[in-house]
Amino acid sequence: MRKPNPRSRTVRRARAVVPRPGGGSARGTVVRPRLRVGIGADAHPLGPGRRLVLGGVEIPHPRGLSGHSDADVLSHAVCDALLGALGLEDMGTRFPDSDERLRGRSSLWFLEEVAREVLARGFEIVNVDAVILAEAPRLQPHLQAMRQALAAALGVAADSVSVKAKRLEGLGAVGRQEGIMAQAVALLAGGSA
Ligand code: MG
Repeated sequence: MRKPNPRSRTVRRARAVVPRPGGGSARGTVVRPRLRVGIGADAHPLGPGRRLVLGGVEIPHPRGLSGHSDADVLSHAVCDALLGALGLEDMGTRFPDSDERLRGRSSLWFLEEVAREVLARGFEIVNVDAVILAEAPRLQPHLQAMRQALAAALGVAADSVSVKAKRLEGLGAVGRQEGIMAQAVALLAGGSA
């Protein structure tokens, strides 16, 4: 077998993309990754006279989440994960609760806005994984609907979005049913190399 010529363009290209610990490449040039990961978290208090909306799905419950918009913690956590992956300011800065136009607005609208920003910056959403921390109500029967609503707002297939629910077994404010929390991670691909 012929020995590869170390000066050939193919070998030089292959070397140029071999990353080293610390971010350099085999030839000393910095390799910019085409993948971006982001994390988001949110919490809202439960109160009377409010609808409980999670992942764009209204869930029957005597109390709902308080907030300026529909207080959908799951959608907010996903928004922040996407904004974080883009290296942008978080939801609170981008959509401030001082903006009266946003009062009572469906958080799926925020997701659509952020998904547009992802595409405008040359990225696409690879997947989103999220978990809701809630003591009650039981969320399992609603997870598939949340997944589909989030995926539709983000313009991705439902299997690119995962939603789980965890109870905190009575621990802390969430365990005492004072509020609901959500966490999410998002992976983006694309952008400038
Ligand atoms: Mg929020």
